Amino acid sequence: MLERVGLGKAVARRYPREFSGGQCQRIGIARAMMLNPQLIVCDEPVSSLDVSIQGQIVNLLLDLQRDFGIALLFISHNLAVVRHLSRRVLVIYLGRLVEIAPRDALFAAPVHPYTRGLLAAASGVALGEAEPPPSERPSGCVFRARCPHRQDLCAVAQPALQAVGPEHFVACRRARDLMS
Ligand code: SF4
Repeated sequence: MLERVGLGKAVARRYPREFSGGQCQRIGIARAMMLNPQLIVCDEPVSSLDVSIQGQIVNLLLDLQRDFGIALLFISHNLAVVRHLSRRVLVIYLGRLVEIAPRDALFAAPVHPYTRGLLAAASGVALGEAEPPPSERPSGCVFRARCPHRQDLCAVAQPALQAVGPEHFVACRRARDLMS
């Protein structure tokens, strides 16, 4: 498996301190793969790596996914990586799912105000106030305190996910208004 993740058998005799960050990630992936998994949960697997190394690790994960038929649940704040790697994207705000969509639909036409803000922020437009800690989650819609489209009704309860397109779901009372 060390060979399969691009390290080679000889590294098995090295000490942990002798490995770079990217090599450590490869070892972590090899360890997970040794269990012959159906699913690997990757929690920010490239966030601490140089940009040049990030691409190598993402491509390694894609190769393993294809060759071994495993599913990847990839958790990241890096939208460029999410866009490159994902088929389906789930957007979470303060612990609540606010939008689920196929990758291309989400990046072409996001609906939830938080998703729109995230994508705009990735293009250099500020998202506004900072995200509060989960302990300060507001009543009603979880995004209410920061939402430019909020109405009184938004204070009643967290909206349920509703279908707005093929495999596309949004938790916003005004989803239909925002799409028109
Ligand atoms: S439910 Fe209301 S506050 Fe929440 S995202 Fe939609 S418009 Fe904004």
